[in-house]
Amino acid sequence: MAFRRGKTKKDSLPLNSTLYLKFIVVYIILGFLALFVSATLASGLTYSSLKSSEADRLYAQATAMANDYLPGYFSEAVSGAEVTMQLRGLSSYMGAAVWLVDQEGTMLFSARRDGYPAAPGQVPGFNPAESGSATYQEGDYHGCFAEDVITVSAPVVQGFSTKGYLLIHKSVSDLTDFRDMLMRSVYATVILIYLLSFLVLLAFQFLVYRPLRRITEAATQYASGNLDYEIPVTTQDEMGYLSASLNYMSAQLRDMEDYQKKFVANVSHDFRSPLTSIKGYVEAMADGTIPPEMQQKYLNIILFETERLTDLTQDLLTLNEFDRRDLMLDKEVFDIHEVIKNTAASFEGICTKRRISIELLLAARHLNVYADRKKIQQVLYNLIDNAVKFSDADSSITIETTDRGDKVYISVKDYGIGIPRESLNKIWERFYKTDTSRGKDKRGTGLGLSIVKEAIQAHGENINVISTEGVGSEFIFSLPKRGN
Ligand code: ADP
Repeated sequence: MAFRRGKTKKDSLPLNSTLYLKFIVVYIILGFLALFVSATLASGLTYSSLKSSEADRLYAQATAMANDYLPGYFSEAVSGAEVTMQLRGLSSYMGAAVWLVDQEGTMLFSARRDGYPAAPGQVPGFNPAESGSATYQEGDYHGCFAEDVITVSAPVVQGFSTKGYLLIHKSVSDLTDFRDMLMRSVYATVILIYLLSFLVLLAFQFLVYRPLRRITEAATQYASGNLDYEIPVTTQDEMGYLSASLNYMSAQLRDMEDYQKKFVANVSHDFRSPLTSIKGYVEAMADGTIPPEMQQKYLNIILFETERLTDLTQDLLTLNEFDRRDLMLDKEVFDIHEVIKNTAASFEGICTKRRISIELLLAARHLNVYADRKKIQQVLYNLIDNAVKFSDADSSITIETTDRGDKVYISVKDYGIGIPRESLNKIWERFYKTDTSRGKDKRGTGLGLSIVKEAIQAHGENINVISTEGVGSEFIFSLPKRGN
């Protein structure tokens, strides 16, 4: 009821595509990053591992040759022509330049593949220890090569002394060519993955972006007051769930709006009829249509109508109190039997007049419950009031308490007109009155039982009704018991 429709603002929220744009930008950045990373990191890693494995291979060959074969040359077991042939074989097998130098770096023999410059007679600044602990060195080897080469060297030892060195130089460009070939496959794979990841963007478009737009559109419609708008998202995922929740919310708001309209119509109607009759009688008295000797009768009617208005206002205020979310019950331990007796006593006048007897069947002398005394008093009052209103003269009303477990059950039973079966679940609604009761009870507002139900529910308890038309009705509710 607290719901009030917002101002009908027609200017809708901007449905721009920033989210989508952001995703596209991220996608493009991702593409550049992937290419950049593979061009730098992958290329660097490939090259360095290629280089070290090639150097290892060269070194293994150089040491094998220097240890197994070349000492024979220095012991004159192998001829120079044979050494030249071996070095040529090695050079063509490794695709490299192969030099055999003596301890001072003077060239003894050399062999080379196409593309390598001729070997110098003397290696300028020859230093057998220059590569230190590394197995290879990289560079133009003392200016002997036009481009960078990887150089490995192995000492040739004969008769416990180093007689010379075998050097193998391999052009770095062979390695970079091989690396570039490998990198081409890497790039192709990266590009393929990049294109495939476009599917993610498409999925985002269809699974998130479009449903989100529809939901935003719905929110705009709701904000502008169109609560009939249904969100056309029926997927079984979070989006579907969100739109189902919003659809449910709008349906609830719609119901609330309908309810509010009905409520205002009912309240206005219930206020208008007594006011119209009061106005009619007062006018008639003022202009003399009703002579002074008749006025007493009409003043009583006016009194009756004003009481009806007071009751109605009181009921509305009570209900309004229940509608507040932070309703605080003022709970205390009290004797329910005492409250029943006092409330029943307040009906003595009317009961005597209509010869209705109220029988109390109370479980014990005292029965303590833990509840809001005033609210429970009101509940009992409304129930007994109905029982009296809808009982025939000369009948009886029974109020009974039952002590069971940790609950006390209180029943108010009458032998009156009863409630038609089809009305049984409507009697709790605000302003509801059965057709039969309308004729009998002109003062009723149709709010009494709504107050009863909400009061009992606020206590976390239940109320039930058993009723047969023409036989009678029984209302039973529970309350929490407290030690006596
Ligand atoms: P009212 O002010 O009309 O009594 P209630 O909310 O208390 O409003 O009751 C709603 C309707 O339920 C009554 O108008 C009546 O039709 C029906 N009703 C309630 N109590 C009884 C009863 N004890 N016997 C028969 N009908 C009842």
